[in-house]
Amino acid sequence: MSSVMGSTIERRRIIIQGIVQGVGFRPFVYGQALHRSLVGFVLNDSTGVTIEVEGPLDALDGFQHALREQAPPLARIDSLVVEPVVPCYETSFIIAQSQAGAERHALISPDTATCNDCLRELFDPTDRRYHYPFINCTNCGPRFTIVKDVPYDRDKTTMRVFSMCPACQAEYDDPLNRRFHAQPNACALCGPQVHFINWVEGETRQVSPLLNADPIVAVAQRLAAGAVLAIKGLGGYHLACDALNEEAVRRLRQRKHREAKPFALMAPDLETIRRLCQVSDTEAALLQSHRRPIVLLSQRPDCPVAPDVAPAYDTLGVMLPYTPLHHLLLRAFAEASEPGRLPVLVMTSGNLSDEPIAYQDDDARQRLASIAEGMLAHNRDIHMRCDDSVVRITAGGEQILRWSRSYVPEPIALPFDLPLPLLACGGHLKNTFCLGKGRQAFVSHHIGDLENLETLTSFREGIEHFQRLFDIYPRAVAYDLHPEYLATKYALDMDVPQKIGVQHHHAHIASVLAEHGLQGSVIGLAADGTGYGTDGAVWGCEIMAADLMGFERLAHLAYVPLPGGEQAVRQPWRMAAVYLAQAYGDAFWELDIPFVRELDRSKWHVLAQMIARGINSLPTSSMGRLFDAVAALIGLRNEVLYEGQAAIELEMLAQQQEKGIHKGQAGIYPFTINKRDQMPATLDVAPMFRAIVSNIQQGVSASEIAGRFHSSIAELLATMCSGTREQTGLNVVALSGGVFQNRLLLEQLVKRLEEMAFQVYVNRRVPPNDGGISLGQIAVAAAHLQR
Ligand SMILES: [Zn+2]
Ligand SMILES: [Zn+2]
Repeated sequence: MSSVMGSTIERRRIIIQGIVQGVGFRPFVYGQALHRSLVGFVLNDSTGVTIEVEGPLDALDGFQHALREQAPPLARIDSLVVEPVVPCYETSFIIAQSQAGAERHALISPDTATCNDCLRELFDPTDRRYHYPFINCTNCGPRFTIVKDVPYDRDKTTMRVFSMCPACQAEYDDPLNRRFHAQPNACALCGPQVHFINWVEGETRQVSPLLNADPIVAVAQRLAAGAVLAIKGLGGYHLACDALNEEAVRRLRQRKHREAKPFALMAPDLETIRRLCQVSDTEAALLQSHRRPIVLLSQRPDCPVAPDVAPAYDTLGVMLPYTPLHHLLLRAFAEASEPGRLPVLVMTSGNLSDEPIAYQDDDARQRLASIAEGMLAHNRDIHMRCDDSVVRITAGGEQILRWSRSYVPEPIALPFDLPLPLLACGGHLKNTFCLGKGRQAFVSHHIGDLENLETLTSFREGIEHFQRLFDIYPRAVAYDLHPEYLATKYALDMDVPQKIGVQHHHAHIASVLAEHGLQGSVIGLAADGTGYGTDGAVWGCEIMAADLMGFERLAHLAYVPLPGGEQAVRQPWRMAAVYLAQAYGDAFWELDIPFVRELDRSKWHVLAQMIARGINSLPTSSMGRLFDAVAALIGLRNEVLYEGQAAIELEMLAQQQEKGIHKGQAGIYPFTINKRDQMPATLDVAPMFRAIVSNIQQGVSASEIAGRFHSSIAELLATMCSGTREQTGLNVVALSGGVFQNRLLLEQLVKRLEEMAFQVYVNRRVPPNDGGISLGQIAVAAAHLQR
């Protein structure tokens, strides 16, 4: 400590880790130091940012406080370590040259929605970037989707081909400018451009925004006139049309061969969204957050969007614009629409049903020209495909249904150190993979269903890309036990010393343990569609005593046959018939209910033979199939176009009952719990089916039956947890699995468990569906390796 002109001078070294590179952190530090007349330096190094700062004590304290309290919006400080060092008596504060190897281990920020400063400039006619669709700064813009390699530098992004003009370069070089070292910095003179391609007339018109005709305005006008167009965005292409135009939405749905899944919407502002849906304060904050996910919201009864946007749904997935191009498009679309008409666009993934989202221009032309009449393209390449993320508010918090754009590649902090660099390959449907090192787990963007070559390719390429970006070369791999999953085959083909198979539902439960940092044993309750069991059966409703090391299966839904495997998933009538046969034997044919009257006897005969001979009829304890069966039994649908469709409709129906003015007599359908020594207990729902059948015969409405069924399942699961608590003494419950995307069931069950004084944990950071199991796999594998 020394004294200069009467005041005490100190020097401190401050080492900061977290997301502190590529987010404007150094200029922020520089500005704070100048403001307080401090001297020293700031630099990027291999783990984050190092600062040495010197000056009077109180100025240093203020500086240190500001680091945490006023950090730039995209920065995330994971640790800040301060140590005193000897003063050097410099005369200025500088941004020093990055250290060799710097940024190699630093985190890459996710893509981030346009910030308010950039938005103001975008719509300011006097600004030099007025209406420039690629405006960005260190606080916003593309990151993950344009990065090809590390360190994060313009040269290693798809912005490499654009040389900055003198004005942009000056901003880039000025530490006090908002665009200091903003790698995607650009303007209309030097940066990417949009152009419109008309596929229908075969003409390509490339129009620079500097010329009079603005392609975005042209596209907005065509959309307002009913066109279906492809729009190149941040992580891929969207297919867009006017969401209020019934004919256009129907045309899009027909051409996309996607008959049932709802389309996401984009609206220019929150006020417009409030005209479509109910929006709570939490939901409004989520919609407006810098991540700008698709948020699932409850539709208002007078919601004006075309019925084909989300057929049979009472929710809508809505997002706000998140790139300058989207802001300009929505504004131009509002101007092109008839006065008084709500400007809302369908913005659904640019792909045919089941294929990954298109993200390269040639690919888009090839695959989307049969769906869209033209496309709004641009010449900034997308390096990494990334779908929109999907989130909703449920059971008192956020539930992530698809972890992707603007969330990836932010790591999830683990409660323990991984003993080795690890890869987890995830599941088959809604695949994500996960790479981990130290205490960080990087769950990948949504890859999709690993059922075709395109998805498998994006899985492989994604893994290679993540390995490079985060310098994680796995020495062990975790995989699902299902021998036929492509992700499993990929893992088994890898050349690594250790391979760890993780049971599907154990991985689900472990994902909850990992994200909440729970190290002890819990009651794990997994409710799911399909997961390979250790006995070869198709598991799906499992109550286990579990920790990261392992699990003991204490109870499950009683087995029924799954006749035809995948066919039984596509045809819920099969499961309804199977459950009726279980409840009544062959006598179920005499039941006087619509489902049985309409059932094709010869088809059932074939199934019964398959089951009797054990042909393609694995036993299953799937909760998803139980929901399918009840949906078919009460006449909702006999066939589905995607897994979960019947169950979702059953939930919608039950919610009508929940909201309904006249609430039928309360009541729980009966069930039986069979306990046998040394064996998992089984939950027998045959009594439930007999009660539902008599309700149908009494003329009880389908919505009332659906409501009562949900309450009954919640009660059954809560009863099981209570029994497990008596047996094990455990009081913490972890819930996971695709069935918990059913909000009604989840909320009822959580409420019931909390009434019973359980401590309940659900997934908040990763999806409860199979998109979350890669995180669980990595946690289980780590526990095994540590041993
Ligand atoms: Zn900005
Ligand atoms: Zn420029």
